[in-house]
Amino acid sequence: MQSDWGFSALIQVEKRDILFDTGADGRILLSNMKNLKVNPKEIEDVFISHPHWDHTGGLSSFLKVNNKVKLWIPSYLPEAKNARKIIEVKKPTKLYEGIYSTGKLDGIEQSLCVETEKGIVTIVGCSHPRMEHILQVASQFGKVYGIIGGLHGTSPESLKELDLICPTHCTQYKLQIRSLYPEKYIEGGAGKIIEI
Ligand SMILES: [Zn+2]
Ligand SMILES: [Zn+2]
Repeated sequence: MQSDWGFSALIQVEKRDILFDTGADGRILLSNMKNLKVNPKEIEDVFISHPHWDHTGGLSSFLKVNNKVKLWIPSYLPEAKNARKIIEVKKPTKLYEGIYSTGKLDGIEQSLCVETEKGIVTIVGCSHPRMEHILQVASQFGKVYGIIGGLHGTSPESLKELDLICPTHCTQYKLQIRSLYPEKYIEGGAGKIIEI
Protein backbone atom coordinates (compact mmCIF):
# COMPACT_ATOMS: atom_id res chain seq x y z
CA MET A 1 0.00 0.00 0.00
CA GLN A 2 1.14 3.48 -0.78
CA SER A 3 0.28 6.16 1.74
CA ASP A 4 -0.10 9.83 0.87
CA TRP A 5 -1.57 13.03 2.28
CA GLY A 6 -5.31 12.60 1.79
CA PHE A 7 -8.20 10.35 2.67
CA SER A 8 -10.17 7.62 0.93
CA ALA A 9 -12.01 4.60 2.29
CA LEU A 10 -14.11 1.83 0.82
CA ILE A 11 -17.29 1.30 2.82
CA GLN A 12 -18.75 -2.17 2.34
CA VAL A 13 -22.29 -2.59 3.61
CA GLU A 14 -23.71 -6.02 2.85
CA LYS A 15 -23.68 -6.09 -0.96
CA ARG A 16 -23.08 -2.39 -1.46
CA ASP A 17 -19.64 -0.82 -1.95
CA ILE A 18 -19.33 2.93 -1.51
CA LEU A 19 -16.11 4.76 -2.19
CA PHE A 20 -15.77 7.53 0.36
CA ASP A 21 -13.45 10.29 -0.96
CA THR A 22 -10.67 9.61 -3.42
CA GLY A 23 -7.43 10.82 -1.83
CA ALA A 24 -5.15 13.32 -3.53
CA ASP A 25 -3.80 11.22 -6.38
CA GLY A 26 -5.69 8.94 -8.77
CA ARG A 27 -2.65 6.84 -9.60
CA ILE A 28 -2.13 5.97 -5.93
CA LEU A 29 -5.87 5.39 -5.41
CA LEU A 30 -6.16 2.92 -8.29
CA SER A 31 -2.90 1.16 -7.43
CA ASN A 32 -3.94 0.71 -3.77
CA MET A 33 -7.33 -0.60 -4.93
CA LYS A 34 -5.59 -3.11 -7.13
CA ASN A 35 -3.39 -4.27 -4.25
CA LEU A 36 -6.49 -4.69 -2.06
CA LYS A 37 -8.20 -6.62 -4.88
CA VAL A 38 -10.95 -4.03 -5.16
CA ASN A 39 -12.34 -3.72 -8.68
CA PRO A 40 -13.21 -0.04 -9.32
CA LYS A 41 -15.71 -1.11 -11.98
CA GLU A 42 -17.85 -2.86 -9.34
CA ILE A 43 -18.30 0.28 -7.23
CA GLU A 44 -21.74 1.84 -7.70
CA ASP A 45 -21.54 4.88 -5.45
CA VAL A 46 -18.92 7.52 -4.73
CA PHE A 47 -19.43 9.82 -1.77
CA ILE A 48 -17.34 13.00 -1.61
CA SER A 49 -17.17 14.61 1.83
CA HIS A 50 -15.95 18.04 0.77
CA PRO A 51 -14.25 19.74 -2.16
CA HIS A 52 -10.64 19.76 -0.92
CA TRP A 53 -7.91 18.42 -3.22
CA ASP A 54 -6.76 15.74 -0.76
CA HIS A 55 -10.27 14.18 -0.97
CA THR A 56 -11.19 14.83 -4.62
CA GLY A 57 -7.77 14.49 -6.29
CA GLY A 58 -8.37 10.90 -7.39
CA LEU A 59 -11.91 11.45 -8.66
CA SER A 60 -11.16 12.22 -12.34
CA SER A 61 -8.93 9.14 -12.64
CA PHE A 62 -11.57 6.97 -10.96
CA LEU A 63 -14.31 8.24 -13.30
CA LYS A 64 -12.13 7.42 -16.30
CA VAL A 65 -12.24 3.78 -15.19
CA ASN A 66 -15.87 3.79 -14.02
CA ASN A 67 -18.23 6.67 -14.80
CA LYS A 68 -21.41 4.65 -14.16
CA VAL A 69 -21.45 5.56 -10.48
CA LYS A 70 -23.87 7.66 -8.52
CA LEU A 71 -21.85 10.53 -7.14
CA TRP A 72 -22.99 12.10 -3.86
CA ILE A 73 -21.40 15.52 -3.39
CA PRO A 74 -21.92 18.43 -0.97
CA SER A 75 -21.55 21.07 -3.67
CA TYR A 76 -20.61 21.49 -7.31
CA LEU A 77 -17.30 19.90 -8.28
CA PRO A 78 -15.68 20.41 -11.68
CA GLU A 79 -14.09 16.92 -11.43
CA ALA A 80 -17.57 15.38 -11.15
CA LYS A 81 -18.80 16.14 -14.64
CA ASN A 82 -18.24 12.65 -16.10
CA ALA A 83 -20.30 10.78 -13.52
CA ARG A 84 -23.52 9.11 -14.69
CA LYS A 85 -25.55 10.67 -11.94
CA ILE A 86 -24.65 13.54 -9.61
CA ILE A 87 -26.58 14.21 -6.43
CA GLU A 88 -25.90 17.35 -4.36
CA VAL A 89 -26.69 16.56 -0.74
CA LYS A 90 -27.72 19.70 1.10
CA LYS A 91 -29.77 18.27 3.97
CA PRO A 92 -29.68 15.09 6.09
CA THR A 93 -30.55 12.38 3.55
CA LYS A 94 -31.14 8.65 3.36
CA LEU A 95 -29.04 7.23 0.52
CA TYR A 96 -30.17 3.62 0.97
CA GLU A 97 -31.62 1.49 3.74
CA GLY A 98 -29.33 2.05 6.75
CA ILE A 99 -27.02 4.48 4.92
CA TYR A 100 -27.34 8.24 5.45
CA SER A 101 -25.60 11.54 4.86
CA THR A 102 -25.56 14.35 7.40
CA GLY A 103 -25.94 16.69 4.43
CA LYS A 104 -23.61 19.61 3.90
CA LEU A 105 -22.82 21.10 7.32
CA ASP A 106 -21.35 24.54 8.00
CA GLY A 107 -21.32 25.18 4.25
CA ILE A 108 -18.57 22.67 3.49
CA GLU A 109 -18.75 19.02 4.40
CA GLN A 110 -21.04 15.99 4.57
CA SER A 111 -20.36 12.82 6.58
CA LEU A 112 -21.58 9.31 5.88
CA CYS A 113 -23.56 7.43 8.55
CA VAL A 114 -23.90 3.67 8.39
CA GLU A 115 -26.27 1.70 10.60
CA THR A 116 -24.62 -1.35 12.17
CA GLU A 117 -25.74 -3.80 14.84
CA LYS A 118 -23.74 -1.75 17.34
CA GLY A 119 -25.11 1.62 16.28
CA ILE A 120 -24.30 4.32 13.77
CA VAL A 121 -20.76 4.50 12.45
CA THR A 122 -19.91 7.92 11.06
CA ILE A 123 -17.22 8.31 8.41
CA VAL A 124 -15.76 11.79 8.13
CA GLY A 125 -13.39 13.41 5.65
CA CYS A 126 -11.74 16.19 7.66
CA SER A 127 -14.42 17.17 10.22
CA HIS A 128 -14.29 20.82 9.20
CA PRO A 129 -17.76 21.41 10.71
CA ARG A 130 -17.67 21.29 14.52
CA MET A 131 -17.66 17.72 15.85
CA GLU A 132 -20.59 18.50 18.16
CA HIS A 133 -22.57 19.52 15.09
CA ILE A 134 -21.59 16.40 13.08
CA LEU A 135 -22.50 14.07 15.96
CA GLN A 136 -25.72 15.89 16.72
CA VAL A 137 -26.92 15.48 13.12
CA ALA A 138 -25.60 11.89 12.90
CA SER A 139 -27.50 10.94 16.06
CA GLN A 140 -30.83 11.57 14.35
CA PHE A 141 -30.17 8.29 12.49
CA GLY A 142 -29.54 6.33 15.72
CA LYS A 143 -27.10 6.19 18.61
CA VAL A 144 -23.64 6.95 17.29
CA TYR A 145 -21.26 4.07 18.05
CA GLY A 146 -18.10 5.13 16.30
CA ILE A 147 -16.25 7.56 14.09
CA ILE A 148 -13.63 6.92 11.41
CA GLY A 149 -11.68 9.49 9.41
CA GLY A 150 -9.98 12.86 9.61
CA LEU A 151 -10.77 14.64 12.86
CA HIS A 152 -8.85 17.86 12.20
CA GLY A 153 -8.94 20.03 15.38
CA THR A 154 -11.67 18.00 17.14
CA SER A 155 -11.31 18.27 20.91
CA PRO A 156 -10.80 14.79 22.39
CA GLU A 157 -13.52 15.49 24.99
CA SER A 158 -16.19 15.80 22.28
CA LEU A 159 -15.69 12.08 21.46
CA LYS A 160 -16.39 10.77 24.97
CA GLU A 161 -19.79 9.22 24.15
CA LEU A 162 -18.35 7.05 21.36
CA ASP A 163 -17.17 3.44 21.62
CA LEU A 164 -14.92 3.28 18.56
CA ILE A 165 -12.61 6.06 17.41
CA CYS A 166 -10.31 5.76 14.41
CA PRO A 167 -8.74 9.21 14.04
CA THR A 168 -6.62 9.41 10.92
CA HIS A 169 -5.57 11.80 8.12
CA CYS A 170 -5.58 15.41 9.43
CA THR A 171 -6.35 14.62 13.10
CA GLN A 172 -4.39 17.08 15.25
CA TYR A 173 -4.93 15.54 18.68
CA LYS A 174 -4.33 11.90 17.79
CA LEU A 175 -1.94 11.22 20.67
CA GLN A 176 -4.27 12.83 23.19
CA ILE A 177 -7.23 10.84 21.81
CA ARG A 178 -5.22 7.63 22.02
CA SER A 179 -4.14 8.23 25.60
CA LEU A 180 -7.61 9.37 26.71
CA TYR A 181 -9.48 6.44 25.09
CA PRO A 182 -6.99 3.56 24.72
CA GLU A 183 -9.75 0.91 24.64
CA LYS A 184 -11.76 2.77 21.98
CA TYR A 185 -8.85 3.82 19.79
CA ILE A 186 -8.11 2.13 16.46
CA GLU A 187 -5.05 3.05 14.43
CA GLY A 188 -5.90 4.04 10.85
CA GLY A 189 -3.74 4.29 7.74
CA ALA A 190 -3.54 3.06 4.13
CA GLY A 191 -4.83 -0.50 3.79
CA LYS A 192 -6.34 -0.65 7.28
CA ILE A 193 -9.43 -2.86 7.40
CA ILE A 194 -12.02 -2.30 10.15
CA GLU A 195 -14.87 -4.78 10.51
CA ILE A 196 -17.91 -3.79 12.55
ZN1 LIG B 1 -8.28 16.51 4.26
ZN1 LIG C 1 -10.36 19.32 4.18
